[in-house]
Amino acid sequence: MMRGKRQEVHCSFCGRDKAEALVLVTGLSSNICEICVEQARDIIAEELYGGVMPDDEKEEKPEPVKREFSLPAGTTPRRIKEHLDKYVIGQERAKKIISVAVYNHYKRLSFPPTLEEEVQIEKSNLLLVGRTGTGKTLLAKTIAKMLDVPFAIVDATVFTQAGYVGEDVESILSRLLQVCDYDVESAERGIVYIDEMDKVARKSDNPSITRDVSGEGVQQAMLKMLEGTEVLVPPQGGRKHPEQQLVKMNTENILFICGGAFDGIEKIIARRMNSQVIGFGSKDTKRVDQEELLKYVTHKDIRRYGMIPELIGRLPVVTYLKPLDLTAMKRILTEPRNSLVKQYQHLFRLEGINLTFADDVVEYLAQTALEYELGARGLRSICEAVMTDAMFDTPDDKAIKHLTIDLKYAKGKLEGGMLELLRAA
Ligand code: ADP
Repeated sequence: MMRGKRQEVHCSFCGRDKAEALVLVTGLSSNICEICVEQARDIIAEELYGGVMPDDEKEEKPEPVKREFSLPAGTTPRRIKEHLDKYVIGQERAKKIISVAVYNHYKRLSFPPTLEEEVQIEKSNLLLVGRTGTGKTLLAKTIAKMLDVPFAIVDATVFTQAGYVGEDVESILSRLLQVCDYDVESAERGIVYIDEMDKVARKSDNPSITRDVSGEGVQQAMLKMLEGTEVLVPPQGGRKHPEQQLVKMNTENILFICGGAFDGIEKIIARRMNSQVIGFGSKDTKRVDQEELLKYVTHKDIRRYGMIPELIGRLPVVTYLKPLDLTAMKRILTEPRNSLVKQYQHLFRLEGINLTFADDVVEYLAQTALEYELGARGLRSICEAVMTDAMFDTPDDKAIKHLTIDLKYAKGKLEGGMLELLRAA
């Protein structure tokens, strides 16, 4: 309630009038401005609470908001594997092992250990051994997408130990930061796929001082990061330099999946198993034997191959991926959620065309990829070579409602040098 004339309203404590004060609180017979309210508050704090108002204390130190991670409802290793089945063909053993490892990893994250607990679940970084193009990256990528966590792919060969030309190992984490817009907290529970891990193996038969630049030195540098520690990360990647502001990241909850072809490891496995790699004469037997032997890959073999024991210790789960055979290649073309055949059908559907591939065409494409050693990655270029003309011509012809790619058509598009071109690419 206002008293007196309007122009006489002023703070009863300091005398400022309404024009000077931002706020003037009016009481029964006096007014107080915002500055005097603050001062009165300080006096009360001093008199009653030893200097700090209880509410202020709360404001100064807000309760840390604990944003804990939880797996999507109903997630179990079986569910994870079922999800992987939709995208990754075959590789049953690897899918099972990865599902369990990832499940346990995120369980560990969802239930952080309390002080009283004696049992602490250790991190289960993974090592995938298998030829290039067998689905290692695809597995890691599919898992990350399912769990909706940041995911980055890095190549171990670009790193060198500190002081040499190349990228610092810490920049592995820069990629992770970049994919989640520098949200450190979510990057700290992401998944990193480190490809070509075998390329940083120490070559036991070629001991030289210089080889350390990309070999053992890099392995050493990776040790702590894989185990879980605080790392100073150059946000833009590359080399750390003094002017750059570094971001502190904790790698304790980052899952590292390492992959590599480990060419020739089957000989080490064979030697360990006291048997011989037989049948190197013919291509087919070689594939079967390698497949069989890889199944038995252990940490011991990886160590023999040239990985330092400390690093192997931080990759407790090792599994293998089989080389892809004809059946797998055919299935890759048709079965996964976003298989190539489904993608082309979708593209044509958007033009109002119903596209089909004859069965023998699928077989022919798969066979061709194997024969020319193009791998599953090569299926894409083979399909493009077959489909380009159709994709160029059909949009002009609105009368086409159905299109079947038969063997004669596919062969016609691929023969006459196209395959040689693909192989050379
Ligand atoms: P790498 O083992 O070298 O990491 P990728 O996972 O990158 O191989 O595979 C390359 C491509 O080949 C994938 O993007 C996918 O299209 C296809 N591919 C390879 N293996 C499989 C598989 N097991 N199931 C489905 N697609 C596969």
